[in-house]
Amino acid sequence: MQKQTVTVKRCLHTFESRGSHLSDITPELLTRFDEPGPRYTSYPTADRFVDAFGAADYAQALDQRQSGRVGKQLPLSLYVHIPFCESLCYYCACNKIITKHKERSADYLRYLSKEVALHTRHLGPGQTVSQLHLGGGTPTFMSDDELRQLMTMLRQNFDFVPGGEYSVEVDPRTVDENRLAMLAELGFNRLSFGVQDFDPAVQKAVHRIQPAEQVFQLVEAARRLGFESVNLDLIYGLPLQTPESFDRTLSLVNSLRPDRIALYAYAHLPERFKPQRRIHAEDLPSGSDKVVMLSRSLESLTVAGYVYIGMDHFALPEDTLAVAKRQGRLHRNFQGYSTQADCDLIALGVSSIGRIGTTYSQNAKTMEEYVDLLDLGLR
Ligand code: SF4
Repeated sequence: MQKQTVTVKRCLHTFESRGSHLSDITPELLTRFDEPGPRYTSYPTADRFVDAFGAADYAQALDQRQSGRVGKQLPLSLYVHIPFCESLCYYCACNKIITKHKERSADYLRYLSKEVALHTRHLGPGQTVSQLHLGGGTPTFMSDDELRQLMTMLRQNFDFVPGGEYSVEVDPRTVDENRLAMLAELGFNRLSFGVQDFDPAVQKAVHRIQPAEQVFQLVEAARRLGFESVNLDLIYGLPLQTPESFDRTLSLVNSLRPDRIALYAYAHLPERFKPQRRIHAEDLPSGSDKVVMLSRSLESLTVAGYVYIGMDHFALPEDTLAVAKRQGRLHRNFQGYSTQADCDLIALGVSSIGRIGTTYSQNAKTMEEYVDLLDLGLR
């Protein structure tokens, strides 16, 4: 399978790593950097990857991990990318496939199994895994039965340690309490809900309508079901948002009190991300309004008791991320903040990015290429 890779020294210039504080973020500073651009939340960034790294190089990295020839063997994380979504959110910049054909995920599941088999050929079965993340796209596009099959297949090949971090991204429009119960039964202990904004006009403008009551019911159900952590994703800078409307969203979020909040800035790059062409530029908030939304968000969330973790993330003081930050144990890996030290990351699925040893690599970016390479027995 065609891979892209780069070997890097870790040099994550997070705000807090430079010894700065929240109060250092001034409106002047924010205005100076108010340029549309890709979100810089993953490192290495896409433009650091090169084509010169192939399936054989990736296999060698796996073999080296297994033989222990390169340093100590790091713990293992898994990321599984489920690319399908039923409808298009206009702000979306993710690698996804919009389809109503639910049967596509059954076929995809077969290819994920092939990909796992290629890994176990090098690593052997039963590697210990302490972190799993299902992302997308929309992981809950899959039926209950398919999600069960996926987890069974992963458990047959990897050994999931009790008490690990097992998370899944949930589109509130695709689940009810029964489906959340099924996710808990499958061993997931963390949920991340994509909310973005509670304002109905904003939701309509981005083609993602999900009433606040629905999200409230789901978060309450998640608590009843014993999920250890619930995250909400929010975006500021969306069409029709105003500082006042976003204040109302923040107030609802604060009353819901999720354990974690990710607050992203919308970057309008319609020439690069086709779905964004459906957003009218004149509906977007001005740069200065975005600055106001961000600064009011920082204030509102910290007043509500959230700890600023770094970059776009906040957590309640008792959340493991906030505790790790207080105790100087916070880590950042390719998937974001983590309480666990460095891990090797096996990424499964179209376009997914992983890390083995000193290499980062990305799977084929289109479904056609991904399927074709796996049919050839390559990854
Ligand atoms: S934002 Fe999420 S749910 Fe919406 S189209 Fe993109 S990947 Fe799918």
